[in-house]
Amino acid sequence: MGKRNAGFSTRCIHAGEMNDQFGSVHTPLYDTSTFSFSSTEKMLDVIEGRKLGFLYTRYGSNPSITNVELKLASIEQAEDALVFSSGMAAISSTLLAHGERGVICVGEVYGGSWELMFQQLKALGRKVEFLDAEDWQGLNHHLSQGLSLVYFETPSNPLLHIIDIAEVCKLAHQHDAIVAVDSTFATPVNQQAINLGADIVIHSATKYLGGHSDLTGGMVAGSKTMLAPIKIWRKNLGQCMAPETAHLLARSLSTLEVRVKQQNTSALRMAQLLQNHPAIEQVYYPGLENFTGYGIAKRQMSGFGGMLSITIRGGAGAAVKMVDALKLFAIAPSLGGVESLVSQPSLTSHRDLTATLRAERGISDNLIRLSIGLEDPDDIGNDLLQALMQI
Ligand code: PLP
Repeated sequence: MGKRNAGFSTRCIHAGEMNDQFGSVHTPLYDTSTFSFSSTEKMLDVIEGRKLGFLYTRYGSNPSITNVELKLASIEQAEDALVFSSGMAAISSTLLAHGERGVICVGEVYGGSWELMFQQLKALGRKVEFLDAEDWQGLNHHLSQGLSLVYFETPSNPLLHIIDIAEVCKLAHQHDAIVAVDSTFATPVNQQAINLGADIVIHSATKYLGGHSDLTGGMVAGSKTMLAPIKIWRKNLGQCMAPETAHLLARSLSTLEVRVKQQNTSALRMAQLLQNHPAIEQVYYPGLENFTGYGIAKRQMSGFGGMLSITIRGGAGAAVKMVDALKLFAIAPSLGGVESLVSQPSLTSHRDLTATLRAERGISDNLIRLSIGLEDPDDIGNDLLQALMQI
């Protein structure tokens, strides 16, 4: 099973399965750090690739890890995938492996990714350039200067900016640069970045892939050639996902499509409910026809996702009042789970940026990010409306 032409959920459930001799219906959990051999020769057969086998879990050589990697490669339509201990582990190994000739970060990105590039990568002597999403001239200029890796999120965290993946790839590839897309907000259900031309697709598996706020992980998918140097960084930084997490992630992927489709529907409903509300300044959701990125999103996404952001009239005070008045939404700095979550990026994901940098990037103090869960949409909507009455 796991054929590329099987449907999305079929691949989520059946790709990469390694059933055991007892007839397990899914790959069991191999919570072992190493694998043993009856002779040195048999060990060398595995190490030197003559026989299929497993060796050492930190290398990613463990059936529970391979199982989930095969599923992820299949659902991202990529040749291969690697899983990591967190989304940041996936991003850092990718940037270290492919950013040696410099990184061009396009548009707004998650605060942690920004900090990694702005502080750590620069401290290592790596060149990093930050560009506005629409700065095509700047992109062309830096690509001509030989910078090797273009990195962006679409939709972005937290303003849901949309970047045209195919257009950026076309330009980057003319300059032999590599394109890595963080597709966490979109999910593979709604956006197939590799098919759109990206060389590498990244997810924080902590979010929709895990989907239940009970695991921390990351993944990178692409061709084997693209992933080879990333795999070495993963191995030597000790960033591989634990088999227990891989097993839990494989379980979560079985329901990815049904979860995300429901979240698409509910989030669109919430965006429509809020967009004309008098207490709201602006709704950021790529599925609203008047949203700036709507045209591109409609072209490159098959659903608009479960994330939306809003700005509240009355400034930071009103935003805190609204957040605190929510009853169903949990105040938590994450997203993509079955529970609806709310967070204020200026106080959480983008807290470590200076106020000036936040202002430049449009992360205002009255901005609220909503992750729409799987509760009854009527209950989610009623909770938002009652909280807006309190400000
Ligand atoms: N990418 C995006 C878009 C995120 O929102 C996050 C975390 O919020 C990350 C990457 C980092 O993921 P993790 O927390 O799993 O390291």
